[in-house]
Amino acid sequence: MTTIHELNPRDRLAVVEAGVITADLDQAAAEYGLLYAPDPASHQISTIGGNLATNAGGLRCLKYGVTRDAVLGLEAVLADGRVIRTGGRTVKGVVGYDLTRLLVGSEGTLAVIATATVRLRPRPIHRPATFAAAFPTIAAAGNAALAIVNAGLQPNLLELMDRDTCRAVADLRNQKLEVDAAAWLIGQSDSSDATESTRSMVALCKKERADVAWATDDENEAEAFLSMRRMAYPAVERLGLTLVEDVVVPLSRLADLLVGIQDIARRYDIRIPTVAHAGDGNAHPVVVVPRDQPAAPMIMKQTAQDIYRLALDFRGTVTGEHGVGLLKREWLNEELDDTSLSVQRAIKTILDPRSILNPGKGI
Ligand SMILES: Cc1cc2nc3c(=O)[nH]c(=O)nc-3n(C[C@H](O)[C@H](O)[C@H](O)COP(=O)(O)OP(=O)(O)OC[C@H]3O[C@@H](n4cnc5c(N)ncnc54)[C@H](O)[C@@H]3O)c2cc1C
Repeated sequence: MTTIHELNPRDRLAVVEAGVITADLDQAAAEYGLLYAPDPASHQISTIGGNLATNAGGLRCLKYGVTRDAVLGLEAVLADGRVIRTGGRTVKGVVGYDLTRLLVGSEGTLAVIATATVRLRPRPIHRPATFAAAFPTIAAAGNAALAIVNAGLQPNLLELMDRDTCRAVADLRNQKLEVDAAAWLIGQSDSSDATESTRSMVALCKKERADVAWATDDENEAEAFLSMRRMAYPAVERLGLTLVEDVVVPLSRLADLLVGIQDIARRYDIRIPTVAHAGDGNAHPVVVVPRDQPAAPMIMKQTAQDIYRLALDFRGTVTGEHGVGLLKREWLNEELDDTSLSVQRAIKTILDPRSILNPGKGI
C-alpha cells in the first residue's frame, strides 16, 4: 500500500496508495516542481490514508487548504467488501452526492481508503520571507493574527506559541530565551511580494503592541524560528503527563479562546502550554499534569472538557484536525443538533450496518 502509481504534472495530480508517507509524496511532487500541500507536523511518519481519514491540516493549510481540499477522488473498500470509487481526476464535478468529501474526515468509520487521487499545486518559486513578533499578552498575539488575515496578506503559515511553550523549547535546546514574551507569532509569505508582505505583517504586529517584531528573507534565520515551532510537542511532553488538545474558533474569537485557556490553567493550578495555527483559529492547548499527581486522569479529563466548552461557547468546534476518536464521542451531542446526529447515524447504518469499521470511534 505504499506505491505512488502516477504523478502527472500535466493534470497536476497524483494517484497514490493509502500507505504512502505524506512527506514522500511531497518530495516526489517536488521533482516536477509541484507541491502536495497538506503538511501535518507528523508528515514524516503519517500516511495519506491517515491524513484523509482525519482530514489533516498543517502549517501550510492556511493558504493551501486542508487534506480535503487536496483530494479529487478515492477508491475505498466498504464494510460489505464492495469497492467504491468516488470523485475522479477533475477539479470540478457535481455528479451525485459528494461521497469523496463524506469519506474524508470519517476516521475510517465508513470505509477503508485504499487509493487516492490527489491534487498537486505549482511549488512556490519565490524565496519566502518570514517574520517573528513577541507580544506582551497572548490576547495581543491573537488580535495580530486576526489583523494579518483580515488585511488579505495571505501568509502561507501563521503560528502562535505561548510563553510556556517557548520556555519548554528553550529548555530542551539548552538555550536561554532572549525575549521571554507572553506569546510569539511567526508568519511566512511565499508570494511574489513576500518581503513587502511580511513587512506589512510586522507593521500590523507593532500596531497590536508587539514589543519586538522583525522580518527576514534569510533562510537560516527563518529556520531558527520555524524549528522552535516544530519542537513544541517534544519539548512540552517532557513537562509531565500530557494531553494534546485541538479546538477551533472563528478567528475573531481566537484571542478570547487563548485567554480562556489561561484562565482554565489557573483554575486547576496546572500548566497548559498552547500553540496555535493562529490564522485558522485552531489552538492546540497541551494539558500538563505532574507525573506524580494521583488524580491526573480526572484533572486532564475535566480540563479538556472545560476547553471544549469554551470553544463551543465561542461557536467553534471541539476538533479541527485530530478527530473525534474515543475521547470526544460524548461531545458530538453537544456540537451537533438532533437532526444532524440522526442523519449522520443513518449514513453510518447504511454503510456499516454491523458497525465493524473502527467500532466505538466517532459516530
Ligand atoms: C507529532 C505529531 C504531530 C501532529 N501534527 C498534526 C498536524 O499538524 N495536523 C493534523 O491534522 N494532525 C496532526 N497530528 C495527528 C496525526 O498525525 C494526523 O491526524 C495524521 O493525519 C494521522 O495519520 P496516520 O497515518 O498517523 O494515521 P493513524 O494515526 O494511523 O490513523 C488515524 C485514523 O485514521 C484511520 N485510518 C488510517 N488509515 C486509514 C485508511 N486507509 N482508511 C480509513 N481509515 C484510516 C485510523 O483507523 C485512525 O482512526 C500529529 C500527530 C503527531 C504524533
